[in-house]
Amino acid sequence: MSKILIVEDEETIADLEKDYLEMSDYTVTIKTDGKSGLDAALTEDFDLLILDLMLPEVDGYEICKQVREKKDIPIIMVSAKKDDIDKIRGLGLGADDYMTKPFSPSELVARVKAHLTRYERLVSSNQKSNDIIEIRGLKIDKTARRVYIDGEEKNFTTKEFDLLTFLAENPNHVYTKDELFREIWDMDSIGDIATVTVHIKKIREKIEYDSSKPQYIETIWGVGYRFKV
Ligand code: CA
Repeated sequence: MSKILIVEDEETIADLEKDYLEMSDYTVTIKTDGKSGLDAALTEDFDLLILDLMLPEVDGYEICKQVREKKDIPIIMVSAKKDDIDKIRGLGLGADDYMTKPFSPSELVARVKAHLTRYERLVSSNQKSNDIIEIRGLKIDKTARRVYIDGEEKNFTTKEFDLLTFLAENPNHVYTKDELFREIWDMDSIGDIATVTVHIKKIREKIEYDSSKPQYIETIWGVGYRFKV
């Protein structure tokens, strides 16, 4: 369920917007001054912001600017004056949409829906690209479970892949062989920490230019290994 923040000092308008949005199953929070609105927008987790322009304490221009520096959620700006809308557009504050009051609440709901759909698509495509880890010439495709060095695919066993991916996802953290064994191998699997050493050696042969001077997986003598970035 998407969460929406309304920053609006005219409470009757805010309440009307809230009623319509709640009828469409959105969770709505109202802030009636600019300062608490800005605080909420920056510190709480909202999926969309409906922002009035003229507000006590901190105005909508400033809120829009500050929120945009930190978050990429859709921002719909509303104002009583058509001239103001033109001005906001001109300022390029990064709002996604503009509406002039009075507007029909169902028009607002329609625009909210459209922006949230677009935003969710954006977020999920970003998540997809997170399934690729790229560090210098090394590329790990977690979805396809493939590893490439300078564009050339290297064959990895399941455990080699799991071990490399785990280390690459937790860079600069030193893990003992014991920790890695527990992380990658099942508790009841046959083997011991020497298994880790063997796998690290095999991974290095595949990804390092020179296994004796590893640039990815570094040995921390007497402790374990870490992935360097
Ligand atoms: Ca106002």
